[in-house]
Amino acid sequence: MTVKKDYYEILGVSRNASQKEIEEAYRRLAIQYHPDRHPPEKKDEMREKFKEISEAYAVLSDPNKRRQYDMYGHAGIDSTYTPEDIFSGVDFSSIFRDMGFGSMFEDLFDFFGVRTQRRGPQRGADIEIPVSITLEEAYNGTEKSLNFYHTVTCPVCKGLGAKPGTSKKTCPKCKGSGYSVYSRGFFSFKETCPRCRGQGQVVDIPCDRCGGHGKIKQQENIVVKIPAGVDNGTSIRVKGKGEAGTEGGASGDLYVSVRIEPHPIFVRQGDDLVCKIEIPYPVAVLGGEVEVPTMDGSKLKMAIPQGTQAGKVFRIRGKGMPDLHTGRKGDLYVEVSIQVPTKLNERQKNALREYAKSLGLDL
Ligand SMILES: [Zn+2]
Ligand SMILES: [Zn+2]
Repeated sequence: MTVKKDYYEILGVSRNASQKEIEEAYRRLAIQYHPDRHPPEKKDEMREKFKEISEAYAVLSDPNKRRQYDMYGHAGIDSTYTPEDIFSGVDFSSIFRDMGFGSMFEDLFDFFGVRTQRRGPQRGADIEIPVSITLEEAYNGTEKSLNFYHTVTCPVCKGLGAKPGTSKKTCPKCKGSGYSVYSRGFFSFKETCPRCRGQGQVVDIPCDRCGGHGKIKQQENIVVKIPAGVDNGTSIRVKGKGEAGTEGGASGDLYVSVRIEPHPIFVRQGDDLVCKIEIPYPVAVLGGEVEVPTMDGSKLKMAIPQGTQAGKVFRIRGKGMPDLHTGRKGDLYVEVSIQVPTKLNERQKNALREYAKSLGLDL
């Protein structure tokens, strides 16, 4: 069994590479592996390479797929997307056209067994909207009102693009086949018909409302429930609130991606929280009780044993963040530091000198 190579490794980029870096890496490798640039006996090998980099690019250039891959690796991609889905939404054509590759991409898809353009209904694209919340909101759960634009199916023509009462006609350019074929070098290229975009039919009289697109832009105002326990990168799916499908296909989904603002007191580590408190020097030496802040706003009394050293970490069970799925709370870790007094009066200084003397120190 061969182990599938890491997509980042394939493109030679770091895991936090920007979209631009990913695209540049892909372009560079696409030039390097382009089958036309290699002798015929190398053709199959180069096509395999080409396929490999194109798949890596298709996943890493799509924010949703990239997140899925970052979280769950190849298993996450393979279990969520069909090979067709992996490549859907990637505009290879514009990349290759820029590079003067013509319709190399159509050929590419032929050996994936994937059709870039399908006839009939197609699902709309997903939308991602980032939302910032406080750690308190992540602790308690919250609701956020979102205002955004997306496309919806045109209510007048029901997404068909044709003026109601009129019908489509066979595309005059491709005569209804949806593509045109031409040869260059070793390859024959199949290009999606630019006129009908592979549909084989074109609108005769366009719909007045949408101008023949079948979709219209619309403002949307929705309230999204953000459950307690969400973490940075948690994505909340709102079904059907993405872009409209084509030809009556289902709308895509909206993904609300959560970002949690840094907190002045607590640092989150999974379901646990970490905070630092300062305790007075005598309490560290003799023991005592101190107050610890908690996420629900209340103060908690915590016993400090005699002889507590700076840097000591105490664990308070059940005072961390709730788990997103079970609601079970993590723990709170409290790291203590020791206050060194800076403003002492004479009486206090003398008391300390007395103590120092008992240690044999002359201060
Ligand atoms: Zn319309
Ligand atoms: Zn056509």
